[in-house]
Amino acid sequence: MNLNEAVLLQKDALIGALCENLRIPSVQRPAEPDAPYGVDVRRSLDHALETAKALGFSVTNVDGHMGWCEYGDGEEMVAVLGHLDVVPAGDGWTVDPYGAEISDGKIWGRGTVDDKGPSIAALYALAAIRDCELPIKRRIRVLLGCNEETGSADVKYYLKNGGETPVMGFTPDGEYPVINGEKGIINVTFSRTYRQDGPVKLVDIKGGSAPNVVPSYACARFVCDEKLADRLSKLYAPSMKFSKTPDGFKAESFGVSAHGSTPGLGENAIGRLITAMDALPLSSELADAVHFLAGKLGMETDGKSAGIYLHDDVSGELTLNWGTIEGDAEKFSMKINYRYPVTFRYEDCGPRFNAQFAEAGFTMDSEVHKAKLYIPADSQLVTSLMKVYRQQTGLEGEPKSIGGGTYAKSIPNLLAFGPIFPGDEVREHKPDEYIEIDNLMKNAQIIAAAMYELAK
Ligand SMILES: [Zn+2]
Repeated sequence: MNLNEAVLLQKDALIGALCENLRIPSVQRPAEPDAPYGVDVRRSLDHALETAKALGFSVTNVDGHMGWCEYGDGEEMVAVLGHLDVVPAGDGWTVDPYGAEISDGKIWGRGTVDDKGPSIAALYALAAIRDCELPIKRRIRVLLGCNEETGSADVKYYLKNGGETPVMGFTPDGEYPVINGEKGIINVTFSRTYRQDGPVKLVDIKGGSAPNVVPSYACARFVCDEKLADRLSKLYAPSMKFSKTPDGFKAESFGVSAHGSTPGLGENAIGRLITAMDALPLSSELADAVHFLAGKLGMETDGKSAGIYLHDDVSGELTLNWGTIEGDAEKFSMKINYRYPVTFRYEDCGPRFNAQFAEAGFTMDSEVHKAKLYIPADSQLVTSLMKVYRQQTGLEGEPKSIGGGTYAKSIPNLLAFGPIFPGDEVREHKPDEYIEIDNLMKNAQIIAAAMYELAK
């Protein structure tokens, strides 16, 4: 019996266990004793560990943060990391999001693709390797996370409490073929105060919803005398609207939304508004701040004017998104999200960026850095996964780099590999999430083959 056949023998059991787990709505909820991410996530973890136990594996529950099972002997360990928590169902479903209905050769429900399907499949892949009595040199561990969608505190807890780091591994929580590069991501918040005594005073300003979304709308209101208001409310600029208010005027700007990892596909409404404000007769302190922002950021998406432009052939350019601004007559604050290419480091851009804001009188209120991930294409991990992918699917394809971040960043030596095939519809986090049963089984076979390739 070969490994692919052994996996197929598990088909009914795998579908049954997956459907049971899909019926548990494992969205994060308030922590309770032994349930750090809420009782439903805990139930989903318990269920998955029961499934592993029934397959004959001994299991470890890491205080409700994660669980794992393992097969084989050997000094070193390779890992498959999945997660059992899901995002809320949201609106727009035509089936019960927690009903685990099967129709059209598909299993429907929240978590089918992201990431219960691949996670439960990994348990059966491990059983297939054991049943085939394949010789392996390294232990194979299936790690079942519980907090991927809301911060990956699960893996942090695991590592902090002595959890073993794999020498190699993958997380089936991205896409095929292999994601071997993920840009470094920096989220930074700056604020600045100002006094106003000029003819035009800012009342408030607001734009954007989140740092990782290109803002499509921004608005600022001003007070001034009637004559100025008459004149300034008649200004014209593309994709902007100026209008009179009872005591002054307001400026609205329109942009095009896009994901923060691809800001070049959008148009930044905040950058547009600030650029227009740079031409207004504002009080000097505010004018200085606006002039700095218009000059350093404006509507740019690559950090050139801010002096942090970086580029490499593996992952392309540094991207920058000015995600939000909010303020009043005395102070404004803003959130910026930028992502540096995978062959660079935080030190190549972060300090220079922050220093310029500090010099211009801004305060940095917070900064969160998620380091880049990069495992070269000629490494053993990438070549092994690519070989498995080509053998199992007959498809070609090359390892790729992305601007987003996956679960792979949470633990060293891991890459995202699967479960989405090229050309598949995007289904994760959307209504009517589903997985084709054929794709589920193909994933189980690929996971089994990859486990063996890394452990043999
Ligand atoms: Zn996921």
